[in-house]
Amino acid sequence: MNDMTSGAAGQRDTVEDLRTILSPRGVALVGATDDVSKFGGRALRYLLRHGFEGGIYPINPSRTEVLGLPCFPSIAAIGKTVDVALLLVPGRHLLSAVEECGAAGLRGAIVVTSDFAEAGAEGARRQEELVAAGRRAGVRLIGPNCLGFVNPARKLALSSSVALAVDRLPCGAIGMVSQSGSVMASMLSHAYDDGSGFSVCATVGNQADIDACDFIDYFAEDPATRVVCAYLEGVTDGARLIASASRCRAAGKPLLIVKSGRTAAGAAIAQSHTASLAGSYEVLEAVCRRHSAVLLDDPENMIKTAEFLAAYGVPRTDGIAALTPSGGTAAITGDRISAAGLRLAEPNASTVAKLRAIFGTTRHVNPLDVGGMPADKMMEAAVRPIEIFAADPDVGTIAVAIATSPALEKKAAEWSQAAEHCSKPVMFVVTPGSVLDPVRKVLRDHGRPYCNTMDQAIAVLRASAAATTGEGADVPVRPTDMPHPVEAARALQPGRLLEPEAKLLLSAAGIPVTREMVARDVDAAVEFAETLGGPVVLKIVSREIVHKSDIGGVKVGLGGEGAVRAGWDGIMASVATHAPEAKLEGLLVQEMAGAATEMIVGARWDPQFGPTVLVGMGGVQVELIRDVRIALAPLSPGQAADLVRTLRLWPLLDGYRGRPKADMEALCDALACLSWLVADLDGRLTDIEINPLFVREAGKGVLAVDARGVLA
Ligand code: ADP
Ligand code: MG
Repeated sequence: MNDMTSGAAGQRDTVEDLRTILSPRGVALVGATDDVSKFGGRALRYLLRHGFEGGIYPINPSRTEVLGLPCFPSIAAIGKTVDVALLLVPGRHLLSAVEECGAAGLRGAIVVTSDFAEAGAEGARRQEELVAAGRRAGVRLIGPNCLGFVNPARKLALSSSVALAVDRLPCGAIGMVSQSGSVMASMLSHAYDDGSGFSVCATVGNQADIDACDFIDYFAEDPATRVVCAYLEGVTDGARLIASASRCRAAGKPLLIVKSGRTAAGAAIAQSHTASLAGSYEVLEAVCRRHSAVLLDDPENMIKTAEFLAAYGVPRTDGIAALTPSGGTAAITGDRISAAGLRLAEPNASTVAKLRAIFGTTRHVNPLDVGGMPADKMMEAAVRPIEIFAADPDVGTIAVAIATSPALEKKAAEWSQAAEHCSKPVMFVVTPGSVLDPVRKVLRDHGRPYCNTMDQAIAVLRASAAATTGEGADVPVRPTDMPHPVEAARALQPGRLLEPEAKLLLSAAGIPVTREMVARDVDAAVEFAETLGGPVVLKIVSREIVHKSDIGGVKVGLGGEGAVRAGWDGIMASVATHAPEAKLEGLLVQEMAGAATEMIVGARWDPQFGPTVLVGMGGVQVELIRDVRIALAPLSPGQAADLVRTLRLWPLLDGYRGRPKADMEALCDALACLSWLVADLDGRLTDIEINPLFVREAGKGVLAVDARGVLA
C-alpha cells in the first residue's frame, strides 16, 4: 500500500485524484494507431465515436496523424491541459511513459498492459517498480492489467473493450468497479440492452495503486451515483473494505458485491476444523451482513438489483406483495417467494377491504390474481392494487409478475405509470417467451427495470431485502464485568493448545468448563476420579492428537476404580495401535457432564477481517450437518441470539416437539465471551473451538466439554 492511500487524509486525496482522472479536461492515448485489431486503434475509435468533448491527443512518435487527428511525438509536445493518459505500450516502455506523464503534470495513467503480479514473482517485482515510478512521478495508476473506464455523462470511453462498439454509452446512476475487464464489458452491454446505465464503470485489474475501495469511496461521495457495485477477486485489506462500506451506508447508497473464489471456501467447509468452517467467503458474508452491504452470486443479478435499487431506492421493509393477471403465475410466485425464505407481506384489514371491494370476498389477497375480471373493470382491477398495496405498512416491495392475459400491452403501460408514481419499489418480472416481447418493449420505453425469469426476480428481491435488513454496524461495548483473558494467554506457549490449556483461556474469558486434572499414571487417575466424585471421563492429552475419539482416546462414564483402571488400559492400548509415535502428556480425568444439546462454538482471527465467531450444531456430525453461522467479533449477547436463531436446527433449541427449551441466555453469553476473547488477544489466538459445548435446558447453563486452539 503506498503512502498516498493510507489514513483518512490519504483517502481524501485519492478520491480527489479520481475526480480529476474520471472527468479529465484532456486525455492522451500513448500508443495510438488506426489499426482496430490493436488496443490503441480500438480505444481511439471509441473515444471519437462517443464524442468526448475534452481534448483528445494521440501519441505516437512514428506518426503525424491518426484517424484524422494530429499525432504528437510525446506527451510533453501536446502543450495543452491533459489530466490522464491511457498507456497502450509494451511493458518495456511503461516506466518511461509514466515518468513522461509526471513531467507533463498528468494526474493519472491507465495501465492496460498485463504480465505483472498475476504472472508470478517476477511480474510482482515489475509491478512494484511500476508503482514506485508512479509515486516518484506523482502520477496515480489504474491497473495494470485493466481495461480502463467509462464515464457516460462525459461521453468518455477510455477503454478498448468491444462492448463500446455501440451507438451510445449507457448513462445512469450505477457506479461500478470491477477487477475484471470482461465483467465490465458484460455489465456495459447488459445495461445498454436494459436501458439502464452507469455514473462510471471502471476496471482496476491488479489494483496496484488505486484500488476498488478507492472507487467505492469515490462513488459514496459522487452525486451522480445512487447504487454502488463491485466485482472483486481478492480482498487484501478488510478494514478498508469495511470503511468503504460504512461510507456507502452513511451516504444512503446500497453497496452490492460479487466476490469470486467462493468454491475454495466451499471446499474448506468440507473439513471439520474451525479454521476451515470460518473460510473467508463466509467471513465476507458476515462482514456484508453487519455492514449492510449485499453479497450476490453473479454479476448479472448484481446489475439487475442495481437497476431496481437505482430506480426505486431501498425498500423500507422486507414484506413483498405480489400481483399477476394469471392464477397459475400467482401460485408459482407465492411458492417461489416463500421457498426462497423471503416474506410475503400480511396486508392489514384496510388493504383487504379495499381489495375485496374490487374482487369480492373469495380471492386470495397475496399473491393476488388480478385476472378474470369483466371487461369494464379489467383495467382498474389490474392497476389499482399497486396503489392499494403501496399504502400498506407491511408491504416493502410490490412484485408484478406479467403473464399472458387480455390487453396486456395496455396493462403494461398502466402498470409502468403506476410504478413510476408509486411510493414503494415495484419489481416487474416478465414470464419467458417471445409472445411477451411487446410487453418488454413497453416496460423499457417507460424506463422500468424488469427481470426475465423468476430465478432472477427472486435473486433481486433477496438482495434488495438484504439491503433493507442489515444487522446494523453497532460495535458492542465491552461489558464492565467481562473478564480480561490476556494474563492467562501470557502463560501459554505458541502453537497447538492442549485441551486443558484451551480451557484455561475459556475459563479466564468467563466460559464455564469441566472440572478436570491431568494424571501422569493410573494411580493418580484413580485418586483424581475420587476427588471429582461420580463417574468420570478419561481422555488422551497430546499436542499431536487433534481428534481424540477417532483413535479411541476418549472413555466416558467410568464409575469406580475398576472402570478407571480398565479405561486407562483401553486408551493406552488404542494409542499404542493407532498413534504409537505420539508424545503423551498423560490422561485427562474429567467430570462427566449430564446429557445436553451438543453445540460447536468457535472463534478465529481472520487474516483479512480480524476477529470472528462461529456457532452451530456440534458433536461428531458437525461436518455432515454443516449448520454453522459466522459473525464478526466482538458481538453482544443480543447479536449472538440473532445469529443462533438463523441456524437451520434452531427449533431444536427452541422446544421442538416438546423438548425442553435450551438455555439461550447462557449460550449467548458464552458466544459473547468467546468473541471478546479472540478480539482481546488481538491476533495472538489464531483459532479456538469448543466442540461440544453442552447446552442444558433453560436456567441450567452451558459447559465446555472439549476445547482446542492455536496460539500464534
Ligand atoms: P474429540 O472431539 O477430540 O474426539 P471430545 O472430548 O469432544 O473428543 O469427546 C468426544 C465426545 O465424547 C464428545 O462429543 C461428547 O459427546 C463426549 N464427551 C467428552 N467429554 C465428555 C464429558 N466430560 N462429559 C460427557 N460427555 C463427554
Ligand atoms: Mg470434540
